[in-house]
Order: sequence, then structure tokens, then C-alpha cells
Amino acid sequence: MSIAVISTGTELLKGTTLNTNLAFLGRELNSIGLAIRLALTAGDHERDLYAAYSEALDCADTLIVSGGLGPTRDDITLDATARFFGLELAPHPELVEKVTNFWGLRHRGRVPKPVLRQARAPEGATLLPNPNGSATGYRIDTIYGGRARRIYLLPGPPREFEPMVRAALLEDLAAGPECREHEFTVGFLAAGEPEFQLQVRLESALSSFPVELAYCATPAGTRVFVSGSDPDRVHEAAELARAFAGPTPLPCGELALPGSILAELERRKWHLVTAESCTGGMISAELTAIPGSSKSYRGGAVVYSNELKHQLLGVPQEIFSSFGAVSAECATAMVDGAAEKFGAECAVAVTGIAGPASDDTKKPVGLVYIGVRAGEKRIVQEFHFTGDRHSVRERSCGSALLLLYRLLHEDEVDSAAAAGR
Ligand code: ATP
Ligand code: MG
Repeated sequence: MSIAVISTGTELLKGTTLNTNLAFLGRELNSIGLAIRLALTAGDHERDLYAAYSEALDCADTLIVSGGLGPTRDDITLDATARFFGLELAPHPELVEKVTNFWGLRHRGRVPKPVLRQARAPEGATLLPNPNGSATGYRIDTIYGGRARRIYLLPGPPREFEPMVRAALLEDLAAGPECREHEFTVGFLAAGEPEFQLQVRLESALSSFPVELAYCATPAGTRVFVSGSDPDRVHEAAELARAFAGPTPLPCGELALPGSILAELERRKWHLVTAESCTGGMISAELTAIPGSSKSYRGGAVVYSNELKHQLLGVPQEIFSSFGAVSAECATAMVDGAAEKFGAECAVAVTGIAGPASDDTKKPVGLVYIGVRAGEKRIVQEFHFTGDRHSVRERSCGSALLLLYRLLHEDEVDSAAAAGR
């Protein structure tokens, strides 16, 4: 089976809506060992959907189409699909009842004609129930270009699309007798390792494995993905890749630092606090995005001005006059102040110049000091990041989390080095 996805919606092409359905589908399919071969996005015009169908059917026998099943004029998926494959569209009694009831629960009077368009089904299609909206999903089994094809049509709103993928689509795909070409992927974050060096090392180490490697750079390091058809070989190769991936690779399956940091803090029954200047709460946002983070993350302060660094963290005024707010001395006072005033074994503090202009000390844009404390250990490091304001802030956030992760795992790294890894 080879799978192509067509996302419909002019808003996806204009960038006003992010195509989260595609990302969700990619993750869910991967979880059952299936991969998307091709993904296309088509505007809300019949000719665009036709073009996408022609292209997708060139390489795929299973198409998953999302969006455009609603009652408005721009919802063209059902009609265009029926026309493209030469199928009759007719009112379906079950759907007429569903749409009428759905309308009755929310409005008065008769169901308007355009709304009843949602009560039609292509001949021979199987209905896929949608408990969260009025549009229904469809599975169409047909012949195109002399080959059997299966087309799934699913509504676009993620709160309808996602449960339908989980409830109907995955099981249906996995059960298909033609589901042979499985692909399994295992990923991990090679924390702090730049993409290119990593690729050179890993490709030679894994050359004899029947796997493919893919890399994705993030501010905290590179995500490495190992894929192949044999799950045991993929796991074996991923573990070998970790052994070659620098001093602090995350465990397989861990693709970001915050979750791993919080898990380690929970294991030690430690707490973490933050004091952020140029990152303005980004570190806090990353940590609190993880469910259950309140067990270990106590909170923090965005201390943008010198007054607040002094008032909330007790940074002495002399530090500002002698060294400036962007200095190792200030980062040290911030991290100590946060740990002591907010009461935690671990603390992270960031102070820097994100740009585009420097502060009145003429220090360079991209100069950032990060202080981290973990129990008795403390480090303060100077960084020179390049790039625009956004990338300096992102890299500061990633580097701060990486420093904390390393400090928490320093002992393991040292013992691995001593064991000659
Ligand atoms: P509706 O009955 O709500 O009209 P529909 O199947 O016609 O459902 P669309 O009109 O295509 O779906 O989209 C409805 C909503 O879902 C819009 O807000 C749209 O931006 C959002 N949406 C559509 N496709 C995606 C996608 N691929 N990822 C994220 N959001 C999407
Ligand atoms: Mg719509």
C-alpha cells in the first residue's frame, strides 16, 4: 500500500491555518508502521483538487483527503471527488436523518437545502461516522487507471478529523490485506550535536543496516530518525546511532528536552525555577507545555528590567553598574537569586541581547549568558549566537535547557566516558 494525503483548503495555502491534520496523520500512521509517500495541498477549486488527484494517483493506491465536506460554497470535495471518479452522488437515508437531527438540535425550522448537501454519499461508499460534526466521512473503493484504489474523505476541523482518524481510519488501514509495506521509525534527540558532523559519523556506522536516516535541526540539537521495514533492526540501528551521537543523546523516542528534564527532576524529587530576561518566558512556556509539569516546575519570573532583576531576585545594583545586566556576574546572581528566593534545587537564568539593536553598553547582539544550577552544581556560560532576534531567543532557550539537561546527567556522561564509550 502506498499512501498519499491531499489537504484541501485555500486557508492552508495562504498560511492563515496551519496544516496540523497532516502532522497528526504522519505521527499516527507512523505509530502503526505506515508512512505517507506524498502530501499535496489543494485550494478550494475543483480544478485544483483534480490536479492533486491526478498527481497523487500516479504514485499511490490509498488517498486520504481532508476538508471541504461542509455545507458552504467552498466545500467542493464531495462533488469534485464524485465527478473525478465518475460516481453518482445521491441522498443517503442515514445521512438525511443525521443531518436533520443535527440541524434540529441547534436551529429551528426546516433544514436549508445547502446543508442537506452533506446528506449525500457517492455510490458504493462506506460511511465513516463523525460524532463531533454534521459532515460524515467516506471510504470509496474504486478502480482508476486499471488499479484498485481506496479514497478516504474526512472533514477538515481537527476536532472532527483527529478522532475519526483514531476511531476509523487507522484500524481500517492496518486491517487491509494489502497492508504489507510497513515502515517503522524510531527517533531521538542528539542533544547539542550539529546536523552535518552527526550525519557523517552515523552514515558510516550504520552503513550495513537496512535502514534510512533522516535529520532535523532544532535549537537544542538534531533529531535523528531511523526508518526501515524490520522493527527489530530499526531499534538495533537506533541504539547504535545513539552510541555515536555525541555525549548526551536522549533515549529513543525522546525528541525534546523539556520532557526528559522534567522526568529526571521527578525521579530526584527536585524542583526547578526560572529567571528569564531576553527569552521572556519561552523556557517557562516549553516546560509548562508538558502535562504534569507542575510536579517539578514551580514557576519563574520574567525579569526584563534591571529593577525587577534587583527586586525579585536580589541582583545587587553594583553588578549593573560594574558589569552590566548582560554579564556572567549578572547571570550568576540571577540563577542564585531565583534558586534561593523561589526555593528550588534547580534554577535556570538567561540574560542577553537578542537584537536587532544592542543595549547602551555596545555589547554585541547575540551575546547571551546562561546560568544553571542543579543541587550543588552551578555553571554559567557565555554564548555568541548569530541570526535575527527570533533565532537568538530560540537558541538561548534551547541552550539553557540543554545546559540543565547536561548538568543533571553529567555523572552518567562522565561514567560513560570513563567506560570508553
Ligand atoms: P466544515 O463542516 O466545518 O466546513 P469541512 O470538512 O468543510 O468542515 P473545511 O471547511 O475544509 O472542513 O475546514 C473547516 C475548518 O477546519 C477550518 O477552520 C479550517 O481552517 C480547518 N482545517 C481544515 N483543514 C485543516 C488542516 N489540514 N489542518 C488544520 N486545520 C484545518
Ligand atoms: Mg467547510
